[in-house]
Amino acid sequence: MNQNQAELRVQELSRLLEQYNFEYYVQDNPSVEDYVYDGLMQELRQLETEFPELLSPQSPSQRVGGSASNQFAKVAHAVQMQSLQDVFGFEQVDDFVKRCQEVFPDAEFSVEPKIDGLSVSLEYRDNKLVLGSTRGDGFTGEDVTANLKTVRTIPLTLKLQENLPLLEVRGEVYMPREQFLKLVAQQEENDEQPFKNPRNAAAGSLRQKYSEITAKRKLDIFIFNLQRCQGREFTSHSETLEFLRQAGFHMIPGWKICRTASEIRETIEEIGSSRQNLPYDIDGVVIKINTLEQRTVFGATSKTPKWAIAYKFPPEEKETTLRDIEVNVGRTGALTPVAVFDTITLAGTSVSRAVLHNQDFITEKNICIGDRIIVRKAGDIIPEVLRSVSHAEQAVPYRLPECCPVCGAKAVRDEGESVLRCPNIACPAQLHKQLVHFASRDAMNIDGLGTAIISQLLEQKLVSDPADLYSLTAEQLTALEGFQKKSAENLVNAVKKSKTASLDRVIFALGIRNIGQKAAKLLCDRFLTLDALEQAGKSEISEIEGFGDVMAENFFAALHDESVQKLIQKLKAAGLTLQYRKQEVSENAFFHGKTFVLTGTLSQMKRNEAKQRIEAAGGKVSGSVSKKTDYVIAGEDAGSKLTKAQDLGIAVLSETEFLEKL
Ligand code: NAD
Repeated sequence: MNQNQAELRVQELSRLLEQYNFEYYVQDNPSVEDYVYDGLMQELRQLETEFPELLSPQSPSQRVGGSASNQFAKVAHAVQMQSLQDVFGFEQVDDFVKRCQEVFPDAEFSVEPKIDGLSVSLEYRDNKLVLGSTRGDGFTGEDVTANLKTVRTIPLTLKLQENLPLLEVRGEVYMPREQFLKLVAQQEENDEQPFKNPRNAAAGSLRQKYSEITAKRKLDIFIFNLQRCQGREFTSHSETLEFLRQAGFHMIPGWKICRTASEIRETIEEIGSSRQNLPYDIDGVVIKINTLEQRTVFGATSKTPKWAIAYKFPPEEKETTLRDIEVNVGRTGALTPVAVFDTITLAGTSVSRAVLHNQDFITEKNICIGDRIIVRKAGDIIPEVLRSVSHAEQAVPYRLPECCPVCGAKAVRDEGESVLRCPNIACPAQLHKQLVHFASRDAMNIDGLGTAIISQLLEQKLVSDPADLYSLTAEQLTALEGFQKKSAENLVNAVKKSKTASLDRVIFALGIRNIGQKAAKLLCDRFLTLDALEQAGKSEISEIEGFGDVMAENFFAALHDESVQKLIQKLKAAGLTLQYRKQEVSENAFFHGKTFVLTGTLSQMKRNEAKQRIEAAGGKVSGSVSKKTDYVIAGEDAGSKLTKAQDLGIAVLSETEFLEKL
């Protein structure tokens, strides 16, 4: 990789990691798995090591990922709340031990389970709890004292004979797994979006406006560090842990002092094997130098101490028995085999099904029904079958059926593809999914047309393709179960309203493979009308940014396919306007093609919303300021990004100016 390529990749990685940090720390709702995040962070660190000139102090590798939201009063931390340097293998643990022992041959290490929750600080004055805060960006956190007081294991008064003028400790707030499962069941019952894992549930529950809600979530805490103390001196971390236990804190069980790399490995393995039986989640093991004075010699980076590391566990895996393979038929006719196995608990949730992708995947892994298989799942990631460990007696290699299990049509396999498909576009399984997609919010947005009604319409043979929806009458609908005159009329009106949907929505609603919302908009941006789109050649389509030759070819073939053309003609005849309303894309000449960096706190919208709006207007948002930045948008308390912009002479917009431009 040359310097230019590395720079682009570093920018891309920084942008992604900042986005994931925002989702994880501010919204408590991550969109990717931790190990995906960790992989990207490792790649960034690697590039910054290889190309040191690309390393900026703003890089996500140099900063603690969170930030304090405006929802709470801000707390400046007297002792920075740092993160930890992650490692993913024993060799890296050995290297760390070696590095420490080169300086202090007698170094001892405290080896502790790493609790998967969120970090908080608790400040006591004269033995009374006075302040509780989140980590935020490590320097400034959020005042969540009232909420932390609802955590029963946090002592409001220290259990000490002596009076300590000041004591600050750091701990990890977590949600016990059982409590998490109850909460998720409740959320599902109330049709609320459930938390993805106990860590996000703990963060979301602690960062609540009303402490009564936090109290109901039954959070718990483990204390793992003494931050500062007046009135007592300590020489080792283990001594502080014992003292804090006596002072009434809930301390992490299972920690140990180790002296050699092999002892540390053993302890990591012990902690790892106890993981399944713990009533809370741990995501690794922390290894810290025990003697406090030795720590000062190693110091810290801007993000992590150099005297500690966190060994992260790989995603969880378990063995189970494969009982069956079911075949699902998708909207585009893809036949997808799904493994059905004896229920196991993985990463805190019950799992009994996992996608097996296609015949090649099954053949390569030599999977037969009845096998003992290994399944992996990390946090909220979709579970996957890793491998087959042993076959049952007389096991036969599994073959996908040759015919569609729903309509019986002979399945086909497109050249160069591994997926088997049902070619019958009138197949009830495909039609049902196609109609659900057609009516969905991002497509034709037909309010009230849900899956149950679609099933009834198909059963009663009232529709045989999406265009038939436009000839449904209120009388026909009233005859269906659950419909009143009013609801039938409402649905007919909602269908009618969708006739004016913008062309890009209609293209998306057609359900052509690989043509999502974004691709549909790009097509309409380029060709503007359906006629122009239909006349476009493959090469013209492939010139659209983001469309490769294969995608262009597939789209061209699908658009000119007889059945799709028939559907388009029927939709035209039904009165769809098929006009592209470009304003839906809200491109804005000011933002188009420019790069923006957001800094500080915006009062009118969250940072993520600002980002989405800039992108919708055609701009790009980058996480760090460089010569390529066009504008820096500075909210309240803007920090070093603003200074850097000023140094580089980059134009700065205030929040008001930004809103005016939008
Ligand atoms: P971290 O979670 O890897 O480690 C630091 C934290 O460990 C400390 O803040 C502390 O609170 C906690 N901890 C628990 N037990 C401890 C103990 N015994 N001793 C010391 N500390 C202990 O680092 P982080 O900066 O909090 O978070 C980064 C991690 O969060 C990433 O590695 C990633 O896994 C995850 N993350 C995921 C996403 C996502 O989108 N999925 C986004 C951001 C971060």
